[in-house]
Formats: sequence, C-alpha cells, structure tokens
Amino acid sequence: MNIVENNNSGKCILEVSHLSVAYGKVDALINFNMRVNEGQIVSVVGPNGAGKTTLLSAIMGVLSSQGNVDFDGEVQQSPQVEYMVGKGLGLVPEKRELFSSMSIEDNLLLGAFQRYRRGDRKYKETLDEVYDIFPRLKERRTQASGTLSGGERQMLAVGRALMAKPKLLMLDEPSLGLAPLITREIFKIIDHLRATGVSILLVEQNARAALKMADYAYVLEMGELSMQGTGASLSEDPRIIESYLGINSKHQEILSI
Ligand code: ATP
Repeated sequence: MNIVENNNSGKCILEVSHLSVAYGKVDALINFNMRVNEGQIVSVVGPNGAGKTTLLSAIMGVLSSQGNVDFDGEVQQSPQVEYMVGKGLGLVPEKRELFSSMSIEDNLLLGAFQRYRRGDRKYKETLDEVYDIFPRLKERRTQASGTLSGGERQMLAVGRALMAKPKLLMLDEPSLGLAPLITREIFKIIDHLRATGVSILLVEQNARAALKMADYAYVLEMGELSMQGTGASLSEDPRIIESYLGINSKHQEILSI
C-alpha cells in the first residue's frame, strides 16, 4: 500500500481507537481508529451504508459504542452527547434537523443554548461572525427556516453548529442533495472555516471533493478502515481512482472545488 504517514504529528484534537458499534446483530463499525489534529480537515469517505453516519453518531455520543474517544485530551468510553457539546464538539447532521417553523435567527440562537446557560453572553458576537460568513442568512434572518433552499438550509445548519464555538466541527455529507454550484460554495466555506481555527471532520460520499480538501483521509468500507493517507496521496491511488473517482468522475469533477 502506497501509504504514507499516519497523521501522528501535530496536536491531536480527536483520537478514536478501537471504536465499534452494532445495531443488534449488525456490526456497523468495527474496531475503527482515526485521528484529527488541530487545524486539520480530515475526511472519511466511503460508499452508502459504510458506517460513516454511525461513526459520527458514536463520537458525538448519540449512539452507544465500544472503544475509546479521546476528545481534546480527555478519553471517553461511549461518550454522552451533552457533555461532548459542552467540551466543544459540534455536529452538522445529514438531515440538518432544523426547526422549520422557527426563524433563521432563532435556529442560530438555539445553537448557542449551552453557552447561554453557562452565562456566556459572547454568543452575540458569534452571531455577527456567522452572519459575516453567511450574508444570505443575515438577509433572511426573520424568515422561517422551512422556506429556505437546500443550500441555504445547509448553511444554516453549519451556522447553528458554529454558534456553539466548536473546537471540532463534524459534518455529515454536507453536499447531499445539493446542486453542483451550491456544493462548491459549501466546500469553499468549509475550507475557510479551517482558516478561522476550527478543526473539521468531514464525512462524504463525494470522494473527489472530500479528498481534495483533506489534510488527511480515511476510507471506510463495510464498517472497517480500508485505507488511509493524505488527501493528495489517496486521490492518486489507483484503487481509489477505480472505486471512488472513476465512476461518475465528470460529475464529481464539477462538484469538487
Ligand atoms: P449513507 O452514506 O448511506 O448515509 P453511511 O456510510 O452513513 O451511509 P450508516 O448510516 O452509518 O452508513 O449505516 C451503516 C450500516 O448500519 C448500514 O448497513 C445501515 O443499514 C446500518 N444501520 C444504520 N442505522 C441503523 C439502525 N438504526 N438500525 C439498524 N441498522 C442500522
């Protein structure tokens, strides 16, 4: 295998070791190991049903798991979601999970709920920062979120997660269901977020774009780690090209940044 360093240099923000999740008798994630360093974009790519959402849900504590999740220097076994949010872990779920009858601004403010409860009133500054990143949300801030387009809903979901000031933002298939131009915009914003100091764990079926922007990447197949390496090295690996980049490559080229 033409691989490559194992992402061990740099300050670790997240390290997952021997992580396993089963739905009854179905093993969805098997003994998975991965790491994200501070300031990195790390991608996990893999086909439908590979276990990508399961991985993020287990790290966040939405699903119970076996193994260790070391986030920001503290090791958890089967983490608890509220605790992980409080420690600075953010998740933008695949289904976005917005409150459609509530305004854009109220959806954003809900993202800062834990900060508000802790007495942290700086969330208002964060709201301005989110509006700077997503001026379209500012223009529409009183509009019900259910009236937004797919791309705007994704922006709102990312903005809501940013309201919690996460140290690590996990994004589940941000390109899902979006038109190519909107997808490019979303990926550019993700790239920009890294520059603001947020580390990013990106889970994607759109392997070309996800590998292109990744400092490091893991390939997940049928619940197991099958390959890892820098985004650039995986993009050039013949097996990745054949399995993930060859088919529909023209379509994916349009989607990639
Ligand atoms: P996709 O890209 O289609 O969202 P994924 O890589 O995110 O796929 P998961 O949603 O994590 O994959 O699913 C991994 C495996 O676990 C699949 O075989 C799926 O059918 C199974 N699975 C997921 N959720 C459940 C559940 N609640 N109960 C039983 N099996 C489940």
